[in-house]
Amino acid sequence: MNRVKILDERRDFITYGNDPKTIIKCESNSVSGAVSQRACVYCGARVVLNPITDAFHIVHGPIGCASYTWDIRGSLSSGSDLYRNSFSTDLSEKDIVFGGEKKLAAAIDEVAQKHSPRVIFVYATCIVGVIGDDVEAVCRQAEKKYNIRVIPVKSPGFSGNKSYGYKMACDAIMNLISPHKNRSKIKGINILGDFNLAGEMWIIQNYMKIIGIDVVSTITGDASYETIIKAPSAQLNIVQCAGSMTYLAKRMEQEMNIPFIKISFFGVEDTSSSLLRIAQAVGNEENIEKAEKFIKQEEERLKVFENKYRKSLEGKKAAIYVGGGFKAISLIRQFKSMGIETVLVGTQTGRPEEYELIRKLVGENTVILDDANPAELEAFIKEKGADILVGGVKERPLAYKLGVAFCDHNHERKHALAGYDGTINFIKEINLSINSPVWEYV
Ligand code: SF4
Repeated sequence: MNRVKILDERRDFITYGNDPKTIIKCESNSVSGAVSQRACVYCGARVVLNPITDAFHIVHGPIGCASYTWDIRGSLSSGSDLYRNSFSTDLSEKDIVFGGEKKLAAAIDEVAQKHSPRVIFVYATCIVGVIGDDVEAVCRQAEKKYNIRVIPVKSPGFSGNKSYGYKMACDAIMNLISPHKNRSKIKGINILGDFNLAGEMWIIQNYMKIIGIDVVSTITGDASYETIIKAPSAQLNIVQCAGSMTYLAKRMEQEMNIPFIKISFFGVEDTSSSLLRIAQAVGNEENIEKAEKFIKQEEERLKVFENKYRKSLEGKKAAIYVGGGFKAISLIRQFKSMGIETVLVGTQTGRPEEYELIRKLVGENTVILDDANPAELEAFIKEKGADILVGGVKERPLAYKLGVAFCDHNHERKHALAGYDGTINFIKEINLSINSPVWEYV
């Protein structure tokens, strides 16, 4: 760390794999002036709710907030594609002086009358947090007027960090499903925290079919109003993106008596153990047998595939910078099985227990960062000599400027990276990117 210039206030957010005594600082607000890679509170809420395919999203704020998040998730739908639109009250100076409640009521009227929605989410962004429009009252009146759900999501960008936005989205989902909490229980699970970015939800649903476990509801990838309100009747919640959905899972456990387990469908090791744990948690002997048989067959297939690529990947070095800890942990394991060492790993919203596990999985000189900024990422990628960076849209230009290969593991990718077939896609992409001849000319 000595060779890399770090702001003093940021030092506690960075550690090394061989430093078990230092507890990494995390789950904190970003340091002012450090140019966090995190998105704002509103964006955190929007990315969780956006995949509900027949929901309408009204962004109560200036048009910039709506354009920043328009069609942001890239989630796929098996039905409606209404969610890919965005509606905004387009607040301007006059509204900020005299208030924007009338404009919001008019926007809800227009959406309700023209589109007959089942549910509208109304996001209050930064300026609404400043001027203090009573968004809840406007939503309440609209619910009565149109007999539909109009749910306020109070998410001014400045009111915390991205994790707080996840919490606001989870509260909105609870608001949506709570009136249905007395539905009788049926045998089956809810899948929480997969957003169907490139059809992953369909892969997981197919696995459940193979091992004989019914899926009651998906939250929120490829969900609809009708499917999501069935969620309270499930026996178990499985949580993929722990960063965004653990809070919802805990509330559903307390208020609806639905236990949860954390799982991950990234990489062979995590996919296999997740399938088995789900079968053991809600299935019978037959479900467990089916899971074991399927895992054996898929692991054998993947072993043959991985061996083909081992020679061209062994000895390479990877840097990981992703949203949540669960994905970082799965990626470290995936790289290990490919013969690739993880030399840098960081997350935007990781939790202490996730960083503890990360430290156990990586080598002693691996840099571990929470809420990193581009300057730190650049310096450590150079210092560690990483051959590839795995991240999201905001990290892509950084990698290319440094002449380092890149793999998108977030909103913009178009091929699935979950499950066994996702692992095959991942290995192919890493190989193509890392071994591209273009890096010789940079
Ligand atoms: S909510 Fe605030 S920080 Fe977020 S996009 Fe809008 S203005 Fe920017």
